[in-house]
Amino acid sequence: MADSYGGEAHSPFFIIFTDLDGTLLDNVSYSWKKAESAVEECRRHSIPIVLVTSKTRAELMVLREALCIFDPFVTENGGGVFFPKKRFNRPSEGADSVDGLWRWSLGVPYSRLVKAFEDMAQELGWKMKGFSQMTPQEISRLTGLSIDEAIRAAQREYDEPFLILDKGNAPELDLFEAAKRRNLHITKGGRFYHLHGRSDKGRATKWLIELYRKIGHNVFSIGVGDSENDLPMLEVVDLAIFVGNPQTLNDAKGRVQDILVPREKGPKGWNQAILNFLKTREEYVDVK
Ligand SMILES: [Mg+2]
Repeated sequence: MADSYGGEAHSPFFIIFTDLDGTLLDNVSYSWKKAESAVEECRRHSIPIVLVTSKTRAELMVLREALCIFDPFVTENGGGVFFPKKRFNRPSEGADSVDGLWRWSLGVPYSRLVKAFEDMAQELGWKMKGFSQMTPQEISRLTGLSIDEAIRAAQREYDEPFLILDKGNAPELDLFEAAKRRNLHITKGGRFYHLHGRSDKGRATKWLIELYRKIGHNVFSIGVGDSENDLPMLEVVDLAIFVGNPQTLNDAKGRVQDILVPREKGPKGWNQAILNFLKTREEYVDVK
């Protein structure tokens, strides 16, 4: 099938799947400057950099412009997979079209999540507040985002972040059970709880690798992440790179085998590991 990535059908086709915050972007300054030379090298070698993040499509549309990375991307922790139409002429089954992109929804649609969230609050008799019930000002206050950024963060498609304001003496487990009865899942993040379907970064990454294989590429995948929600992604790639606190890996008890941990963390580690990989990539390919 024609697509502008081209390349020899059987020569290895490298793809980098990367988390953003704390990985390609610095945890504090949100800058990617320290990874710039490796990003530039990837561009020079036409190696796609697939951003795999918990952010929304609206947030990604702005970030992609800033980073000058226009490859496919994954939003809301694996809920949505987006592929630029310019780079992929014909979509596979199940895609719809939005913003010049093909979209595959691996997650549960937001309207269903919001409805389930309200039902759960009522059933449990708990006071909870979701993004769908917050103003941009409230979201901005809770997250430290600017109002414009908060507006983009609130444009959810596959995940409802929320706070528990009052649950009386009830155990947290009741909430997890209520979600499970609705075939949904809850994850506890740094600031918020999240209600979502079965999607995760690993399923979305695997799905994209399969798509590239279907269009004839001999894929060699590299994954870079810094925290626990990146582990499902690191489990499905050929080469896993971890640029976060190594304690997270100890806690994961060997879930990801053969993981590369550069000495530097965040974008600096990203730069180091990817430049090194590009220099030595023939060795990796021979091993496969
Ligand atoms: Mg991260």
